[in-house]
Amino acid sequence: MAEIVIRNLRKEFGAFTAVQGSSFTVRDGEFFMLLGPSGCGKTTTLRMIAGLELPTSGEILMDGEDVSQRPASQRDIAMVFQMFALYPHMNVRRNISYPLVSQGVPRAQVQAKVAEVARILGITDILDKPVGGLSGGDRQRVALGRAIVRNPKAFMMDEPLGALDAEFREHMAEELRALHDRMGATTVYVTHDQLEAMQMGDKIVVMNHGVVEQFGTPQEIYDHPATLFVADFIGSPSMNFLRFRGAVQGGDASVQLGGVTIATPELQQEASPRDLVLGVRPEHVVLSDAAAYRGRILASEYLGTSQIITLDCAHGMVKARAPSGQAVRTGDTVGLSFRASTLALFDAGSGQAFR
Ligand code: ATP
Repeated sequence: MAEIVIRNLRKEFGAFTAVQGSSFTVRDGEFFMLLGPSGCGKTTTLRMIAGLELPTSGEILMDGEDVSQRPASQRDIAMVFQMFALYPHMNVRRNISYPLVSQGVPRAQVQAKVAEVARILGITDILDKPVGGLSGGDRQRVALGRAIVRNPKAFMMDEPLGALDAEFREHMAEELRALHDRMGATTVYVTHDQLEAMQMGDKIVVMNHGVVEQFGTPQEIYDHPATLFVADFIGSPSMNFLRFRGAVQGGDASVQLGGVTIATPELQQEASPRDLVLGVRPEHVVLSDAAAYRGRILASEYLGTSQIITLDCAHGMVKARAPSGQAVRTGDTVGLSFRASTLALFDAGSGQAFR
């Protein structure tokens, strides 16, 4: 098992910078997510940790040792890819045992290890089947088996569930997480799916354009997004953004929105008048006639246990998650109150959150 420390990691491909100086720590035994939109540098980061790509600058420490310039073969890391790279002409047993056989591990030891891995993954009954006829899920289990069997220091997984359909994907995600909890192996997992990252990860790094926007637990990232990008990327429906001009007074715990005082968490930072964005999650918008801030109901979307109500307000469109039983009429003007402790305030120019 291993702790992985990333310091100012940078990767340039010619004139293009894919990763612009990332720093974060993956603790021993963590299930760690690299999350972000397509092209943000997740895979490049993962490949540098695995040793499949050398950094332009920066450091990768494994258990305190600098491995940045070491080839993949000397890092003791197993990769699991989206495309289950199995050997098609071999059966399941031979696919799983291959890494041990090629290392010259004695036969009896190989047999015992393969049996143990098959039991962990629940695939003992298919060990002698050819891989060609297996379902997507079983192929993925075999690919995992081949990674696990070596007892590597850490696993690198690049969108391993990307090729599965939505329903099965969720099931495999639970299975993977349960497997991780049993084995406790340090795992770095790349995904562009924020829900998958939130559900599975102990920690998440959110990347955008090669930059680490935020690093924290799923709850820290959801409750206290550090930037407008993170606030927008995490959560469904996304956080609402109310745009206005105002000042931030240190210690003050409110903002003025079109003449209405909105209570916010206490802010330590100060800022002269500027363009600001107030962020509020749909579940923290409460429709109440008593509230002074008003909006006109444009639509409501029924979701079974709740409904999403879209309102037109003076500072932007707002979505509110309300109980499905709450009666609403399109066209009505209603009051909106925001749960103060949950609000976020951002500088519209820099996109950074005030703390
Ligand atoms: P995706 O989910 O689409 O793979 P990603 O976040 O994993 O996205 P990367 O694959 O890390 O992104 O790519 C980041 C950027 O670096 C992209 O713009 C990509 O085109 C570029 N890139 C990656 N590998 C190379 C390479 N070998 N040569 C040139 N550019 C590259």
